[in-house]
Parts: sequence; C-alpha cells; structure tokens
Amino acid sequence: MDDKQITVTSPLLPNLDEFQVLLKQIWDSKWITNNGSFHQELEAVLAEYLKVPYVSLFTNGTLPLLTALQALRITGEVITTPYSFVATTHSIWWNGCKPVFVDIDPKTGNIDPEKIEAAITPKTTAIMPVHCYGKPCDVRRIKEIADTYGLKVIYDAAHAFALEIPKNKADYKVAFDEATNVFNPSQAGMKIEVETESILNWGDLSTLSFHATKVYNTIEGGAMIMHDAETKKRIDYLKNFGFAGEVTVVGPGINSKMDEMRAAYGLLNLRHVDAAIEARKNTAHTYREALRGRKGLTFYEDMQGVKHNYSYFPIFVDAKKYGMTRDELYFKMKEANVLGRRYFYPLISEFSTYRGLESARKENLPNAHKMADSVICLPMHHELRKGDIDRILNLIVK
Ligand SMILES: *Cc1c(COP(=O)(O)O)cnc(C)c1O
Repeated sequence: MDDKQITVTSPLLPNLDEFQVLLKQIWDSKWITNNGSFHQELEAVLAEYLKVPYVSLFTNGTLPLLTALQALRITGEVITTPYSFVATTHSIWWNGCKPVFVDIDPKTGNIDPEKIEAAITPKTTAIMPVHCYGKPCDVRRIKEIADTYGLKVIYDAAHAFALEIPKNKADYKVAFDEATNVFNPSQAGMKIEVETESILNWGDLSTLSFHATKVYNTIEGGAMIMHDAETKKRIDYLKNFGFAGEVTVVGPGINSKMDEMRAAYGLLNLRHVDAAIEARKNTAHTYREALRGRKGLTFYEDMQGVKHNYSYFPIFVDAKKYGMTRDELYFKMKEANVLGRRYFYPLISEFSTYRGLESARKENLPNAHKMADSVICLPMHHELRKGDIDRILNLIVK
C-alpha cells in the first residue's frame, strides 16, 4: 500500500492568490451574502457560459430541486428514475409528493421514455428525469409526452454542466437513432459539425449542482435554469424565504442563497473549467483505448453531435465474461489504493423510505438493477496523470 491513493474525484480549485484578492474586496465591502455583486456577476457570467437565458444561484444542488417543485406547484405523483443520486427522489418526498419509479434504458442510463406513459395516472403532475453521467435524455420525446398529458418537466441536470446537444430538429434526428432511441456513437476522432445548444434549455426548469465532486464547483453550490424573467424573479423570491419586498412574502420560500465567498470562488473556477473538461476528455479517451474490446467490460462512447463534459467514467462488469464480479474488482482496486465508486448503487428504490412503493418492486426496474449491480465509476478528474491512469488500467485489464 505504499502507492499513493488515487481518488475517484478531485475538486477543481481556483488560484489561492487570486481568491485572496477577491476575498479582500468582500471584506472591504462587508457585503457577504444576499445578492451581492459577486453573486450577480456569477449569475450573469454563468448564463453566458452555459448559453441559457437565466440562472439563479443556490447554496447547493438539492435546494433548487425542492424549490423547482414548489415553484411549479407540483402535487400528487412525480415520475422519476431510480438510477440517480438520492437527492432527486428526496426532493419529491420533501414536497409531499409520491415518487413513481420508471425503469431506465441501459443504453443511456436515463429514464426510458417509452416506459413513462404506462406510469402516468390521474395524479401525475410532473416528470423528473436525470441526465445521468452527463448523457443527454431524449428531451424531445419527453417533451412530447409531457405536452400530450399536460405534465411539467423538471430536469435534475446535476451532471449536465456545459452539456450540449444538436439544436436543430433535423440534426438531432441525424445524430439520434430512432430505432435504438439513443444518440449514435461518434467514432474516435470523427467530428460532426452541427449547431448545438445547451440541454438546459429543455424542460420547464433544470437544476445544477456545483458540489466539490462535480465538474464545476463552488465548494457547495447549485443553480436553477429558467427560460423567462418572470420565473427567475419568482425563484429569486422563493430562495429568499419568499420575500418580494421588505414586508411582502409571496409564498413559503426557503433560504438557499449563495454567499459572496462562494460566488467569488465560482467566478475564478469558471476560468479553469474548460481546461479541466479537456483533461477529463483525454483521460476518457485513454480509458476507452485500453478497454475497448475487453471481454466482459462495457462503457459509453461519445455521442454524435453531443458536446460532453466527461463528468464520470462508468464501466459495467459482466461477471461471467470478465471472470470476476463487480465487487471483486471494486475491492481489488481499493486494496491497491485506487478508489472507484459504485455510483449508483444501491438504487434509490432500495432505500427504506422508498422500497415499500409499488413502483420500487425489482420486477418493475430490471435494467436499473442490472446497471446498479455492475457499475464502477473509475477515477475521473482533471489532475489524473499518465502514471495514475496506467496504474488504474493495470488493475482492470488482465
Ligand atoms: C450531486 C447531485 C445532486 C445534489 O447536489 P448537491 O449539490 O450535493 O446538493 C442531485 N442530483 C444528482 C443527480 C447529483 O449527482
């Protein structure tokens, strides 16, 4: 165990000297939270960077989920995926709604749009999908279903920072294989030039997490993306207790404001995030080169017309073909001081709060169970060196 530990993730940090300059400004101004100048600047700069009309900053990635459901007055049942981080379903529960789990498509890890309609009841009011691992949901199909049944769509886009998809319907259709319902894999090195747009433009609302473990972080932090100024105004009230003026409270708001220190930190980190994504991309390509064609191991390729963020690198172990179970490989790595993560395992539907639900039955979620039982996310961050990647691959490739 003398080899240094390789962690599954490592936070992108701003330059400390630059951060100290901004901290001095905050100290001098004594405006440390409540929509200060760094908060306003980060909202504006992020909107431009992400190519979205409006951003509202939050103190983490869970509170915008809670607030989105509140803002749209969601009640009754909300259709969602069991293959996510627990916060997705918790936000539905905290709003007094009933989560209804729908199985995923193993080709993407995302909720299977073809199975959504069967789960709709008279009580259904919304769909909450996740762009799992930063892979795009079939947003056009989900919108069609939502429009047909009069449902709202809130995307938990915690993994979808800077994720872009073909903008035009025609390009989307070329890039997207309707037979398999998934974006075609792009060949290594091949580039298709299509105009792309932020995936955050889809859905009634989307939420982001800027937690330390994510591609872009503000230590703890998050955001909501909305499409018009009125919604932004209302969300800004709700994240500040519902205050719409000194003496007016327009609803049961919460406190979820991002403070000035973290907004300043976020401004600095935004300067480095493109380079970090590029480093992740190189790591993903190295992993794929080494793992392509290995018996019993599968992983995702890049998708045509999609601008990825390389937030995670999940591999799936077929124990029979690989000759070792997922857990055996996971613990073998751990013993060699290489930390993978069984992400997402267990499924949300297996936790005590949710396992009694009718939709949480294992028979209802075969694909999700299969993925949860076979996945390991390999270390993936901007600081992995060639030596680290070799060490990781040596443990996996036999
Ligand atoms: C990280 C994450 C969240 C929660 O974000 P926090 O900032 O940690 O509160 C929610 N959903 C998904 C899918 C996540 O990965």
